[in-house]
This record gives sequence, structure tokens and C-alpha cells, in this order.
Amino acid sequence: MKKIGLEIHCQLTKLESKLFCKCKADYRSLPTNSNTCPICIGLPGSLPLLNRKAVEKAAMISLALECKIPERISFFRKNYFYPDLPKNFQITQYNAYGPTSIGYEGKIGIEDKEIRIRRIQLEEDPGRLIYEGSSEKTLITLIDYNRAGAPLVEIVTEPDFESPRQVRIFLNVLADLVENIGVADPYLEGALRVDGNISTGSGNRVEIKNVGSFRDIEKALHFEITRQQSLLDRGIPIQAETRHWDEARKITISSRAKEEEEDYRYLPEADIPVVMIDKNIIVEIQKQMPESIIAKRDRYIKKYGMPVQVANVLASDKFYSDLFEKAHSEINAKEVANIITTDLMGFADTREKKLELKISATHISDLANAIINNGITRNSGKIALQEMIKTGKTLSDVTLGLDLGHVSDTNYLEQIINEVFKEEEKAVIEARQNADTVNYLVGKVMQKTKGKADPTITIEIIRKKLSN
Ligand SMILES: [Zn+2]
Repeated sequence: MKKIGLEIHCQLTKLESKLFCKCKADYRSLPTNSNTCPICIGLPGSLPLLNRKAVEKAAMISLALECKIPERISFFRKNYFYPDLPKNFQITQYNAYGPTSIGYEGKIGIEDKEIRIRRIQLEEDPGRLIYEGSSEKTLITLIDYNRAGAPLVEIVTEPDFESPRQVRIFLNVLADLVENIGVADPYLEGALRVDGNISTGSGNRVEIKNVGSFRDIEKALHFEITRQQSLLDRGIPIQAETRHWDEARKITISSRAKEEEEDYRYLPEADIPVVMIDKNIIVEIQKQMPESIIAKRDRYIKKYGMPVQVANVLASDKFYSDLFEKAHSEINAKEVANIITTDLMGFADTREKKLELKISATHISDLANAIINNGITRNSGKIALQEMIKTGKTLSDVTLGLDLGHVSDTNYLEQIINEVFKEEEKAVIEARQNADTVNYLVGKVMQKTKGKADPTITIEIIRKKLSN
């Protein structure tokens, strides 16, 4: 019996400022140690001031994960000594005397399983340690405090996962969810970080830290299951400990005996008073929450008759569902969804590639309309799309430039069809007896015209010739 639980750190990357000061929440790309002030580096006499927007965003995550939100929230000091922590304590939340963290007792469904959320807490990110030097002797550790105090939400699950695969699915669902509600960009480096804890059989709990990506957490858990099982098989007890994931060697390494909660000496943060959460504010936030991924998916299926798979893929991706919303009309919705999910998503599947796309909603709706009105074939449409992505040119410019326009010249098409009839005598006889086999001849015409023949006119001419 395996039990896996997760602690996910999600940065609130859409905020302007840090959790307790006016320094920028977006510390990336700033010169080292330039994004600091007396508050976030903990100089004596400085006082933290809670960022109201951070509480609202954290409440949005709590609502999206169906958590309860307490009437009052409070903050604690988690004491530990580490160079990335300038104050020697981290301001976080702690449910020692009843629930006072921004969310508790929530849940999230993945496939046919429900994962319970134990709590959601708001806390500050520590600074960043940068290791340089190639060998142990030359190794130096540099510290960048630009990240210290950045707003972070920690999501703690119950140990409900039974396999590393479930963990990966859950993390993908969670990443889509925080992106959809507009609190974080989960694809920014370090924006979503995961620690896993795992116990096998009656063995002790082992924590895995320092895992860089979703794919690696799955690998790290697999490794850990095998390691623990082989220890148990040999009658060796499993130590409660914290292990680090070694990305290069793809193994977990023991780093220290696991700290217990009491080791942190949690103290109430006296510099931040208890914050009352007005019920009306929660009602307001609930009203402003964007449509959930599940509701969006159901709308796509019901309103536009999209296949479940297409609706699922489209609704889960905020970037592409936003594009769909802007590009579609009542008439071309299915075609727009088709272009986005079958062609566009294949061309641009990473954050970087999405940002490089030179197209707007107009490009997509023009293309969908052209396909519906037989102005361009699907095949040529695909080529046109690739060109529009790279150049940002309009559909008509691209079709002209690449000669992708429709062949609807009847004389020319008749000539091609005559050729096909000569070459495919057997198929012609068959089509005369069974009208359903006509598509084979249409396909041959498409081959000869490189997919540019107007399908409606082509079928018309073929039918006429067959009935002669
Ligand atoms: Zn600051």
C-alpha cells in the first residue's frame, strides 16, 4: 500500500508587489539583489504590511479548490536558519489553534478520483541560492534576495495519491486551474514547485524536495517506491527523512533527518494583526471568478456540439480558449475549434512558442470562414496557417503568395476529371453502381490539384459525368 501526498508552492505571479512590501512580485530578469527593501530583507525596526490583493488571489485558489475559508486568518513565524531566509524566520500560516489559513478541507477531482486538500496557506518565498563552481573545492553559493518575500501559496494535499501517474495528472489539472483563474502563470520558471511525501506499507514517511519539473516528480516518486520496496523486501526499516532529487543521476539522495513541525517553533506573527475575512468580500470574489474549466468544457459541448475530447483540450488551455472566444462566431465555432486543437496546438505547444505566434483571432476566424465557404481546402488551410503564424500576414496575402487559392475553374477541373476517369476505369464503373464510392475519385482529383480543387464543384462535375 503506497500513500503519496503533495505540497505545492504556487507563486502569485500576477500580483504587482511582494507579500509584505512594495518591492516587485515579478523578480525575474531584475539585476541581482536590486529588488529588496528593509522589510523583505528583515532589517530591525521594519514592519510588514499585508498585500490585500494577495489575500484575494489566495482566496480565489481556495474557492476554486472548494476549500472552506475561515472568518479570520492569521500569520505565524516559522523559525529556521538558512541563508536564503534573511530574517531567520518565514512568515507563513499555521493551523495550530484552529483553522486560520486562507483555505482548508477542499477537494479536486481527477479522472474518477477525488484528492482532498488539507489546507491552503499564504506565505513569503525565500531568496534564491545559486550554486557556482564545478568541483566540491571550488563550489561557491551565491544568494539573490530579489525573490525574498514574493507572494506564495502553499497547497497541501492529504496523502490520497496511489501512484506517480495520478500525481502527474493532478499537477496538470492544478496548473491549468491556477492559470484559468488568472492568479499565476504556472509555466514561468519556479512558479510552481512541488515536494512529495511517500510511505510504503507500514514504513516511515519520506519527503522528496527540490524537484524541478512535473515530469521529474513522477520519476522521483517511481524511484522512491522501488527503493523503499527493496528495503522492505530485505527487512530493512525505512528511515523518516528528507531526500533530494538529483536531476543528473535521476535518483533521490538522503539529505537530512526529517524535521518535525515542533522543530520550527512556530510563533504568532505579532507584527500582523488577525485579519477578518468579511463574508461579503468572499461573495464578491466568487462573483468575479472566471468560468471554471469544467463549466467551459460543458458549454463547448452543449452550445457548439464539440466532441468531448476537443472541448476538453480547448477548455483546459487558457491561452487557446481565450483565442477561441475571440475568434469564433455562431457559425464557425466548430471549425475554429478544429483549427486550434488539430493544427495550431501542434505548431505551438510550449509557452515560448505560444508567445512567438504572430497571429490574432482575426487570422483564425478568416481561415475558418474561408474553409466553410470553400474558399480554401483544409489542406491548403494548414499551409496558410503555418505561414500566418510565422509572418503575421493576412489570409488573403498568404493565399496569393503561396498560390493556395481554390481551383474552381470548371474547364480546368473538367480536364483533370477526364484524366482521372481514364486512369481509374474500375473505380468509375464501381461509382456508377454505388454512389458512396465517389469519394475515391474526388480524392484522386485532390491529389492532382494538390488539394486545391473546390470540392463542391468537383463532386458536381463527377456526378454529372457518371450519370451520362
Ligand atoms: Zn521589499
